[in-house]
Amino acid sequence: MMDLISKLWLMKRELVSDGFDQALDSLAREIPMDIHEYPTGESCWTWKIPEKWTCQEAYLESLDGKRLIDYANHPLHVVSYSLPYEGVLYRKDLLPHLHIHPKLPDAIPFMFKYYERDWGLCLPQTLLDSLTEDAYRVVIHTTFEPGILKVGEILIPGVSDETFILVAHLCHPGMVNDDLTGVVVGLEAARDLLHFSLIQGQPYYTYRLLILPETIGSLAYLSHQEDLIPKMVGGLFLEMLGNASPHALQGSFQPDSQPDKCLSSTLRGLDTDGYLGAYRSVIGNDERQFNAPGVRVPMLSLSRVEPPESPTRPYREYHSSLDTPAIISQERLDESKGVLLGLLQAWENNQYIVNNFKGEVFCSGYGIWIDYRTDPEGHRLLFRIMERCDGEHTVADIATELNTSFQIVWRVVSLLEAKELVWLSRIPHPTDPRKRG
Ligand SMILES: [Zn+2]
Repeated sequence: MMDLISKLWLMKRELVSDGFDQALDSLAREIPMDIHEYPTGESCWTWKIPEKWTCQEAYLESLDGKRLIDYANHPLHVVSYSLPYEGVLYRKDLLPHLHIHPKLPDAIPFMFKYYERDWGLCLPQTLLDSLTEDAYRVVIHTTFEPGILKVGEILIPGVSDETFILVAHLCHPGMVNDDLTGVVVGLEAARDLLHFSLIQGQPYYTYRLLILPETIGSLAYLSHQEDLIPKMVGGLFLEMLGNASPHALQGSFQPDSQPDKCLSSTLRGLDTDGYLGAYRSVIGNDERQFNAPGVRVPMLSLSRVEPPESPTRPYREYHSSLDTPAIISQERLDESKGVLLGLLQAWENNQYIVNNFKGEVFCSGYGIWIDYRTDPEGHRLLFRIMERCDGEHTVADIATELNTSFQIVWRVVSLLEAKELVWLSRIPHPTDPRKRG
């Protein structure tokens, strides 16, 4: 994953650009991928595909020709989708077009003006402070032209056409944790899913991993595949998976959905420091398009955003030139891949538990009795789980109701299944005689 990141991170990955295409092509060489193409100007519900943007060169220099900022040195030195500009300006007229990071004086900020057109350059505050001359020369050679927005899709066919969507964006030039880490973790997990190593067989659900430019990429895909939307039963957005924070799982717009209950109750068994946040309370990305009206896919997000009390939330180097490979590690990417696969494993396992038994189970007779004198908590939990095995509760429902982990409930259910006391169903199967008609 680190090798792939070092190859891709400095590419000029703008919404519609040669840099984005180049990065997507590199990824398509790693794993079978379909590439969807949407031309500039095409409607995507209330949006339109933007033009292709290219920056040929951009710099700021003193009037005696000393180059102070140069796009050739870092892709963040120019505002993404900046208008072209060339001229000599007084310092006071130049300053509104120069952008600095609000908190990191040594970093170049990530600035984009995709739809509100203007020109601009970005630089560290320390450099800005040294600009004391009366006038400077600005050269920004950028072009806007018709192009093709691209969305990469990795399809893992399941037994069912019910689909779980994974999404990561690829449009942050010169940065790593946001957004390349989500891309590579998703890609490596997809590779495992394709090789059936998740459940030693074909997964039940179909999985689609989308790699796209943020927001407009999701809108382009969804608006052109409306027939797939009813099959999308859940999803997970991925990014910021290489920094040192614990995993944060942000719920969907439908907090009582099965994906919310399943993934939330599973996280606690995968990252003991991991934490949960409500929809839009952790970080906002493409999950907004999937959760939105007319789509309503319960899509959560997984990231390593710092906890709410942190003053550097989401993480110190966010949207700056300090978001480099130095702030992430292969070990943390591997951990995140493990968490992602653990969540998907639980999603595959999450089913309705149907009782073959009536009344309370004669536990000693089946050899599953837990002695309340030596393990009172285990004894209580066994009974609380068993009384919910009625064909109307999934594993995730029970874990959520009992405020315990998916894994604990799954272990008990597996034991009951082995004793043929219960069976698992993808659809509700009520055994209450009143509900069975
Ligand atoms: Zn971002």
